[in-house]
Amino acid sequence: MSESSQQFASDNYAGICPEAWAAMAEANQGHDRAYGDDQWTARAADHFRELFETDCEVFFAFNGTAANSLALAALCQSYHSVICSETAHVETDECGAPEFFSNGSKLLLAPTENGKLTASAIREIALKRQDIHYPKPRVVTLTQATEVGTVYRPAEVRAISATCRELGLNLHMDGARFSNACAFLDCAPADLTWKAGVDVLCFGGTKNGMAVGEAILFFNKALAEDFDYRCKQAGQLASKMRYLSAPWVGLLQGDAWLKYARHANQCARLLVELVRDVPGVSLMFPVEANGVFLQLSETAIVALRAKGWRFYTFIGAGGARFMCSWDTEEERVRELAADIRLAMATG
Ligand SMILES: *Cc1c(COP(=O)(O)O)cnc(C)c1O
Repeated sequence: MSESSQQFASDNYAGICPEAWAAMAEANQGHDRAYGDDQWTARAADHFRELFETDCEVFFAFNGTAANSLALAALCQSYHSVICSETAHVETDECGAPEFFSNGSKLLLAPTENGKLTASAIREIALKRQDIHYPKPRVVTLTQATEVGTVYRPAEVRAISATCRELGLNLHMDGARFSNACAFLDCAPADLTWKAGVDVLCFGGTKNGMAVGEAILFFNKALAEDFDYRCKQAGQLASKMRYLSAPWVGLLQGDAWLKYARHANQCARLLVELVRDVPGVSLMFPVEANGVFLQLSETAIVALRAKGWRFYTFIGAGGARFMCSWDTEEERVRELAADIRLAMATG
């Protein structure tokens, strides 16, 4: 297996898709205005407004950690708290950035069902304490698709947002894999976001086929006040912004974002179909987006790694995560499946 062989460790092992690459090359002609005053940034923002069928405020950041942290910081004061799932990226993979950029807003962890928060878990946490000694709950953050590859249905998001409204909470969505969720549900982006009560969405571009970049969409425009200053202060205002925004034009204008998300999801489904009858293998979560979580034997995990396969096992003993991406080749999925079958037979 060569160093550049396709892997399933993360969807960000993949490179840049042709549409994003071509748009970057097109943007790389002549001079243009800096700091987001350019034509590409305006076009990208308009594409988002068209796609989401609403006049939202659009910002761009270099990565998801920054997008999530700054968006959450915009939604609360330092004495507030943010309700998230115990498996949320903001909790487990952002090195305390949400707390840092909000000057200390505490994350309150809720138990999940298949990686999803529920209205009742949110209610329980929000109402647990209402005294001055406890950080006041102000925001709920959902991950769509979730960290374990499941997808909130529009009705689930609506139920959560109804609870948020009742309790005076803002609703944020970490959409690092929002495209994969839309592809799975075959659902209009609006129905999964503002029409379902989401105030702010961080829309992931990196895992969808871009080099870098996430878009932050404020459907509740009042919450976007001074957000440009927040981005700048955090080092997230690209001076040559057109190189962050042009790839979005490439992804959005011909629906490449959806085509690639569908492809990645299909590859995940293929993988699970190919291994579901392997003795000893069990599926940890329903495969809805582009990730497959398998319970394997420890010896099989060692054998697969020895063969050169890279994958994460952060999900607990024997649990292995396999992520498919925009460019995953079907042949490579078949090779992985065959090696899983072999490793489980000899383990
Ligand atoms: C990948 C990912 C992010 C973004 O991570 P960065 O490495 O900061 O770009 C955010 N949320 C989730 C759920 C992710 O999987």
